[in-house]
Amino acid sequence: PRDQFEPHPSKKTLVILGTGWGSVSLLKKLDTENYNVIVVSPRNFFLFTPLLPSCTTGTIEHRSIMEPVRSILRHKKATVKYYEADATKIDYEKKVVYINDDSDIKGETSSTEVPFDMLVVGVGAENATFGIQGVKENSCFLKEVGDAQKIRKRIMDCVESAGFKGQSPEERKRLLHMVVVGGGPTGIEFAGELQDFFEEDLRKWVPEITKDFHVTLVEAMDKVLPMFSKQLIDYTEKTFKEESITIRTNTQVKKVNEKTIEAEWKKADGTKEKESIPYGLLVWATGNAVRPVVKDLMNQIPAQKDSRRGLAVNEYLVVNGAENIWAVGDCAIANYAPTAQVASQEGAFLARMFNSLAKTETINTELATLSDKQSRELDKDKRTVILGEIKALQKSLRRVKQIGPFEYSHQGSLAYIGSERAVADVSWLSGNFASGGTLTYLFWKSAYLNMCFSSRNRVLVILDWTKAKLFGRDVSRE
Ligand code: FAD
Ligand code: NAD
Repeated sequence: PRDQFEPHPSKKTLVILGTGWGSVSLLKKLDTENYNVIVVSPRNFFLFTPLLPSCTTGTIEHRSIMEPVRSILRHKKATVKYYEADATKIDYEKKVVYINDDSDIKGETSSTEVPFDMLVVGVGAENATFGIQGVKENSCFLKEVGDAQKIRKRIMDCVESAGFKGQSPEERKRLLHMVVVGGGPTGIEFAGELQDFFEEDLRKWVPEITKDFHVTLVEAMDKVLPMFSKQLIDYTEKTFKEESITIRTNTQVKKVNEKTIEAEWKKADGTKEKESIPYGLLVWATGNAVRPVVKDLMNQIPAQKDSRRGLAVNEYLVVNGAENIWAVGDCAIANYAPTAQVASQEGAFLARMFNSLAKTETINTELATLSDKQSRELDKDKRTVILGEIKALQKSLRRVKQIGPFEYSHQGSLAYIGSERAVADVSWLSGNFASGGTLTYLFWKSAYLNMCFSSRNRVLVILDWTKAKLFGRDVSRE
C-alpha cells in the first residue's frame, strides 16, 4: 500500500530538509520513483509567505495560505516519507541527520537519526536580532504563521488595554504606538497592512483610539526598500506620509526594553542623538540570520570557513567542500537575494538535475549490460544490432546530461505599501518596468493569486478578501 514506506535497497536515499519554498518546489518536480525520498521538517505545511503580512490583521486567514505537506506528497508517484521534526545536526562525514520531534505531543521515541546518500538542506533562515538586548523577549517577528497570529492578538490587546478605565493619556498613547523595526519589504508591507486595518476597520469599531493610534517604521539606513528603484522608494515614502505612517530613517535600534526602544538617530550633520521611543506593539523585521543546524554544518566543513551568511554553494547548488549535499533558498549563499522567487527556482533546478542524474545512472547500467552482451555475442549481425542500441543509448545519455549550471531568472520585485497601492519593479520582455499605485496593486493581487500553491488556496484567499471588504476584518481577540 502507498502509505507503507519501504526503502528500496537499489535506490539512493534522498533526504530533504524543510517544507518551504525551496524544498517544496523540488518535491513538486522530483520524480520520486528514482529515490527513497524522506522529508524532515517541523512544519507539516507549506506557507505562502508573500501574503503572511495580510494575516496579521485578519485580511487573510492564515489557513488560506497553508498547504498541507500530506496533500503535496499524496500526488507523488512513489511514497515519500515525512517526519515532523527538526534536523538538529547534520553529520556530513557519517552521512546522517539527527532529528528531534519538538512538538507538544511526543511518542516514546522523539529523537533519532536518518542516514542519507544525498541531502538537500532547505531549512531557510531565522530572524536576525544582531544580538541586540531585549529583542527576543519583547518583540514579535513575522516569519511563521504563529508570528502573524501573535501580532494579530497583540494589536487587539493594545487597543483594548488602551481603553481600560482610568488609563492615563501617556499610557494610552504608548499602547497605541505600533513600532516596526526594519524598512525592508517585510516591515513596509506589515506597516501598510496595519494602517489599512486602522483606517478601514479599527477607527470605525473603536473610534476612541483615533487620536492616539500611530504606526512608526524605524530604519537604520537612509532609505527603505533598498532593492527597489529610487522612484519607487520616493513613491513609498510619499504614500506612507499620506497614510500618516512615520518613517524614521537613519535611526538604529540599540536596545529593546519592555515598553520602550532605545535608538540612535544619525542627523544630517553626522551627529548622533539617543532617544527612547515608547511602544505598545513592536514588530522586528530586520532580515535573516543563519540557523544553528546550518552554522554547525558550516563549522564541520573547512571550505565553508569564510562563509558567514549561510552555506556557500557552487553553480550546481552543491555545498562547497561537501559531497552529495545541496542547499537551496535562504540557507544557501549563491549571490542572489534571499527570496521565494530564488528558492523556488533553485528547488526546481535541483529536481531537474536529480531526475537527470537518475536517468543517467539507468542508462549507464543499460549500457554496461549491452556492452557485456555485445562482447560475448558471436553472431556478427546480432552484434551490429546491439551496437545500434548502444549508439542510441549514448545519444540519449548525451541529451540527458545536458544540464547546465543554475541560472536565476529575475521576474521582478513587488511589494504592497497600504491603501490599495503597491510598488513593482518588473522585468518585462527585455526591459525593466517600474510602477506604483492602484493599478500596480491590482497587478500585485493577481500575481500573488496566480502564485498561490493550489486552487483551494486561491479560492480561500479570494473569499477572505471579499469577506474583509463586505463585513470588515474581525476585531475579536482570540
Ligand atoms: P522557508 O520558506 O523559510 O522554509 C524553511 C523550511 O525549513 C520550513 O518548512 C521550516 O519549518 C523548515 N525548517 C526550519 N528549521 C528546520 C530544521 N532544523 N530542520 C528541518 N526543517 C527546518 N519572497 C519573495 O520572493 N516575494 C515575496 O513577496 C516575499 N514575501 C515575504 C513575506 C514575508 C513576511 C517573509 C517573512 C518573507 C517573504 N519573502 C518573499 C521571502 C521568502 O519567504 C523566503 O525567501 C523563502 O521563504 C525562502 O525559502 P526557503 O525554502 O529557503 O525557506
Ligand atoms: P531586509 O533584510 O530586506 O531588511 C531589513 C532592514 O532592517 C534593513 O533595511 C536594515 O537596514 C534594517 N535594520 C537592521 N538592523 C536594524 C536596527 N537595529 N535598527 C533599525 N533598522 C535595522 O529584511 P526583510 O524585509 O525581512 O526581508 C528579508 C528577505 O525577504 C529579503 O530578501 C526580501 O527581499 C525578502 N522579502 C521580499 C518581499 C517581497 O518581495 N514583497 C517581502 C518580504 C520579504
